[in-house]
This record gives sequence, structure tokens and C-alpha cells, in this order.
Amino acid sequence: MGRRAIVTGGTRGIGAAISVALKEAGHSVAANYAGNDEAAKAFEAETGIKAVKWDVGDYDACVAGVAAAEKALGGPVEILVNNAGITRDGMFHKMSKQSWDDVIRVDLTSLFNMTRPVIDGMREAGWGRVVNISSINGQKGQMGQVNYSAAKAGVIGFTKALAQETARKGVTVNCVAPGYIDTDMVSAVPQNVLDSIIAGIPVGRLGKAEEIGRAVAYLCGDDAGFITGAVLAANGGQYMSG
Ligand code: NDP
Repeated sequence: MGRRAIVTGGTRGIGAAISVALKEAGHSVAANYAGNDEAAKAFEAETGIKAVKWDVGDYDACVAGVAAAEKALGGPVEILVNNAGITRDGMFHKMSKQSWDDVIRVDLTSLFNMTRPVIDGMREAGWGRVVNISSINGQKGQMGQVNYSAAKAGVIGFTKALAQETARKGVTVNCVAPGYIDTDMVSAVPQNVLDSIIAGIPVGRLGKAEEIGRAVAYLCGDDAGFITGAVLAANGGQYMSG
């Protein structure tokens, strides 16, 4: 059954693949983005999925953005994928307050900003899917990413707590924790660092955005109704948590 979906950061990288996988699963999708109009236009032209711009770190912008997306989609949002994220890497002893605040705002506070405006509608409908994109580095911690690891670990806590609150209402809340995926975010990593990362991935390669997209689409479907509060690791075996 086709549902109405919003994917944050849905025009590039993993988010774009999630938007496309949801469309292929028969859903109507609005893809949010922050400011890269050129990428958003190209994505719209290529996929036919509507791109909508607002900052997920800004609560009022999210309320307005959700309302605009719901108008375009023709009704309340039934699927929300909180995918937008940024990195501001650096060793903690050199980390600025700004780098900390930026990452917590976009990678963690955005989950409140985006989920709060849609949760009442999902509860009232008795059906909903929220999928949050965490990271392997939120599970295991990563040197040089104290801000990012803290935010992505927070995403897991958010997922587990909200899943308990909404389970009886037919609303599942899950998390996908990707390992290293071949996107712009990972291209920013120096090649020698990337080579050593790949050497530590049992599958022997980076992940593909499409592999994450299809995993998310599965969690958003009716078949996944008994899965909630889960953290799905998609990392090529790089980190196996209990
Ligand atoms: P990209 O940098 O390729 O794309 C990020 C997307 O998020 C873009 O669409 C961007 O919009 C959007 N975005 C960034 N900031 C905001 C904001 N304030 N408001 C709205 N949209 C915003 O990232 P990836 O595809 O690599 O990563 C996607 C998610 O997956 C992130 O949460 C990331 O932390 C997580 N992840 C990624 C991994 C990887 O290996 N790539 C590994 C593990 C987790 P715009 O185009 O306008 O800039």
C-alpha cells in the first residue's frame, strides 16, 4: 500500500537512495534538503521526486516544512526517515563549541524537530513508520568524532524510547546504523585513511547507498510491523554488536 513519506537529506547520498527505494516500493515521497539547490534540481529531474528545502536543525522551519510537504503529498505524513546529517570532525581537545553545537543540532535535535510535528498524525491514524539513520560510529565511538559519535548514539536512545511509547499505536520506530558508505561524506576522508578503513571491513568494500535505501524501505513496509526499537547494523561486518 502506498504511503506518504518524508526523507530528510533526501536528495543526495544515502538519503537520495532511500527516497528512490521508497518510491520504488510504491510510496509518495518528499525529499528534504538544506541548501544544495543544484543537487536537488538534478535529483528531482532524475527521479521525479519533489525536493523541499528547509533546515532540520530549526524547529519552526520543520513545522512549516512538514506542513508544505503534507500539502504536496495530499495528507499527513505516514513515513518519516530522519537521515540528514553532517560531520565536523576533529580531536576533542581541539574541538570548538561551534563544531559540537552544529553536529548535535543537525544530527540529533533534528529528530525532535522533525518527529514531533508528525507523531500526532501517526498516532491518530494507528499506523506510522519512523526510521532514524545512526552510524557505526554511534555504536562503537570513533576517535576524532566525539560530537558525531555522541549525536549518533543519541539517535539510538531516541529510537528505543519512542518505540516503546508508540508501539501500541501501530507506529514503529527503528534505526539503521550504516558503516562506511560510498557517498560525498566518505569521499571527504583522505585516501590513505579510507584504505585502512576498507582493510578493516570483512566484506572488503564500502557499502552502497542503495543497500541502505532498500533496508530502510523494508523497515517502512507493512511486513516490518513486528520490528520496533531495533538497530539494524549495515556495515559489512565491521562492527558486530550484541
Ligand atoms: P551527504 O553529505 O552525502 O548528504 C547529506 C544530506 O543531508 C544532503 O541532502 C544535505 O542537503 C542534507 N542536510 C545536511 N544538513 C541538513 C540540514 N541542516 N537540513 C536539511 N538537510 C540537511 O550524507 P550521507 O548520505 O553520507 O549521509 C546520510 C546520513 O547517513 C547522515 O545522517 C550520516 O551521518 C549517516 N551516515 C553516513 C555514512 C556514510 O558512510 N556516508 C555512514 C554512517 C552514517 P544538501 O544537499 O542541501 O547539502
